[in-house]
Amino acid sequence: MIPFLDLELQHRPILADLAEAARQVIASGHFVLGERTAAFEQAFADYCGVSHTVAVNTGTSALHLALLAAGVGPGDEVITTPATFVATVAAIQYAGASARLVDVDPETWTLDPARIEAAITPRTKAIIPVHLHGRLADMAPILEIARAHGLVVIEDAAQAHGAESGGRRAGAFGDLGCFSFYPGKNLGACGEGGAVTTDRSDLADRLRRLRDWGQERKYLHVDKGFNYRMDEIQAALLHVKLPHLDRWTALRRQAAALYDELLDKAGVVHAAPADGRDHVYHVYAVRVADRDAVRARLAPTVGTNIHYPIPVHLQPAYADLGYRPGDFPVAEALAHETLSLPMFPGLTDDQVQAVCEALAAACAPAAARAEVAA
Ligand SMILES: *Cc1c(COP(=O)(O)O)cnc(C)c1O
Repeated sequence: MIPFLDLELQHRPILADLAEAARQVIASGHFVLGERTAAFEQAFADYCGVSHTVAVNTGTSALHLALLAAGVGPGDEVITTPATFVATVAAIQYAGASARLVDVDPETWTLDPARIEAAITPRTKAIIPVHLHGRLADMAPILEIARAHGLVVIEDAAQAHGAESGGRRAGAFGDLGCFSFYPGKNLGACGEGGAVTTDRSDLADRLRRLRDWGQERKYLHVDKGFNYRMDEIQAALLHVKLPHLDRWTALRRQAAALYDELLDKAGVVHAAPADGRDHVYHVYAVRVADRDAVRARLAPTVGTNIHYPIPVHLQPAYADLGYRPGDFPVAEALAHETLSLPMFPGLTDDQVQAVCEALAAACAPAAARAEVAA
C-alpha cells in the first residue's frame, strides 16, 4: 500500500529535535506569543524575503486578518477563484465583504488573469490569487491589473511555501501573503498554525493588534480584535522544521518530475509541467474521466485524494454567492476529473513508478482490465 501522505516519515529523523523544542517551551512556562513566536516570525520572513511575518493560529485566520488589515469590509467585493479550499471564500465573508469568483486557467488551474477585468466593479477592493496545489498563480499580469485599478493583492499561499519566480517567493508578490501550517501543508505544525507576510510595517502593526484582541498594549483595545494568536509550542516546532523545507521541496519536485515523465508516456493528463521553481507540489494531481471509479480501483494499493470534489460556488453553504452550475466551466471540470496522487518528501522512485502503473491499469478500458485480470 502506497500512502497518500506519510507525515511520520517526515518527522522520524527530527523527532528528537521536535521533542526537545516542545520540552523547552513547557519548561519555560510561557505558552502564547513569546520569544519562540518572534524568532519563528523572523525566520519565516527571511525565508519568504519579506520584512514582516505575523504568526496566527490558522491559515483561515491569516486570510481573515489580511483582509481586515487591508481595509476590506462590508460593501466591498473581493475577487478570487472557485477552485480553492472553502476557507478563501469564507474569510472574505468573515470580513463582511462579497466574493466575486473568476474561473481558473485550464493549463495551470490558477486564477485566469484574462478573466479578472470583467469581474472588477466600483466596489472591488482586493484580489486573492490562490497558489493552488503549490503552483504560483500568474502573478505578473495579476499585479499589473491590480495596480491599474488600485486593488490590494492578498496571496493565498497556504499550499505554496517556498514557491518562487524571478527571485521572489510566495508571500512576497502581493501586499499581503497568507500561509497555513496545517499538519499536511508543505511546512506543517504539529497542530494548527498560520501566518501573514508583508513588507508594509503599517499593515504588520495592524495585524499584530488584530490577532491579539486589538490591543495596543495590555488591556488597551484600540481595534475590535480576535484571539488568533500562535502558541509557542507550534512556533518552536515550526522553527525546527523550517530549515528542512527546501530539501523537502526538492524531494517533492523530484517525484513530480518522474510523475510528469511516466504519465506522459502512459498518456495520462496532468497539470502543465511547472517552469522552473514556481511549483512546490503540495498536491500532484491528474485528470481522469470516470475519476471516482478509477479512485475506487486504486484504493487497495494506492492512497489518493480529491482537491476538491465540489467547487466553492456549488457548495450548499455558499449558495448565497448566487452562482449556478456552468458558471465556471474550468473549475467545474477540474472538480469532476482531478485525482491527487501520493506526494510527500521521501516518496521513492519505485513508489512513483508503481503508482503510475496502477493508475494506467485503473484507467484502461474495461475490456483491457478484464484481460489483465484473467
Ligand atoms: C489549508 C488552506 C487554507 C486554510 O488554512 P487552515 O490553516 O486550514 O485554516 C486556506 N486556503 C487554502 C488554499 C488552503 O489550502
